[in-house]
Amino acid sequence: MRYAVISDIHGNLEALNSVIDSCHSSGVDSFICAGDIVGYGANPRECLDIIRELRIISVAGNHDLAVAGKIDASYFIPAGKAAIAWCRNVLSFEDFDFLNGLPLVLKNNYLIVVHASLHHPERFEYLYDIINATDTFYLMDRSVCFIGHTHRPQIFIQKDGRLFFPNELSIELSAGCKYIVNVGSVGQPRDSNPMACYCIYDTDLNMIEVKRVAYDIKSAQRKIIEAGLPEILAYRLSTG
Ligand code: ZN
Repeated sequence: MRYAVISDIHGNLEALNSVIDSCHSSGVDSFICAGDIVGYGANPRECLDIIRELRIISVAGNHDLAVAGKIDASYFIPAGKAAIAWCRNVLSFEDFDFLNGLPLVLKNNYLIVVHASLHHPERFEYLYDIINATDTFYLMDRSVCFIGHTHRPQIFIQKDGRLFFPNELSIELSAGCKYIVNVGSVGQPRDSNPMACYCIYDTDLNMIEVKRVAYDIKSAQRKIIEAGLPEILAYRLSTG
């Protein structure tokens, strides 16, 4: 099976379409989403439509649940809060229903997916370093766990009781190791690379590969400004 794991689309239709095109040309069999389909960008409805049309299995991100009214958005940055309020005005009943029904954690025979971390997934704690990774490794009953939330691609490995993170973002999996893979962000990367980011997991080849895809950033920015969303949400797409 060749999975594409995507995350943090954040209503960026141009980025999502480019990633899906890239996945199709990479021979992907199945899509999985680690959450935050909405928030920040100008096309949350269209992105939700694509997720449903392609039957992409998804967990809930904090923005998804904030828009659905399931969690408090008061701790969000002002631009994030403004985007949540804007989203609530443009989404349909069907969209709210869909967001409300997203689970916090999903797993199959090969993998686990959660937006932020397995340690109290409902708290959406950022998993940046080995200390935070330890709790999630402890709770993993599969060898691979995919996450998003930080918008920065990163792989953490647990081997023989030791934790480390390689610089490479393309690795071959080894028996006896566990992996936490942050798949980065489709719609708002924050690792100084503005290209859309996603991950391929090939369970036959035992390979994980983080991929970058160019997309029409200018068009996504123009729509954010035309929608009356905070301009910072448009500008930040250029820097990554
Ligand atoms: Zn996000």
